[in-house]
Amino acid sequence: MKDLKCDTCGNLTYALCDGYAIGDTLLEGILFEIRLTNHGNVLASVQEKDLPYFRSQRIDRAQWEKDMAEHASVTDTLTCPMCEADIDGPGAGESPSLGNA
Ligand SMILES: [Zn+2]
Repeated sequence: MKDLKCDTCGNLTYALCDGYAIGDTLLEGILFEIRLTNHGNVLASVQEKDLPYFRSQRIDRAQWEKDMAEHASVTDTLTCPMCEADIDGPGAGESPSLGNA
């Protein structure tokens, strides 16, 4: 598992992914925070500011966070939260290598 890194901003604690990728127009414009754990797992969480939307629409946030984590674990493009540039996602580049330094 590679780190989340932006060419401009350096290492990132998290990246962003638009909910449109998993929820179409229901989640369009909702940015999920994507984090990589030390164990190589991918976590996705809704940002604080979007919580009222999920509540008001009665959307199952936990389920979508799970779906987004699965999507983000294979996507090759995520978004830098600082400069909004495209950055490599976990699925970018060559096939996974166990020899990661
Ligand atoms: Zn950046």
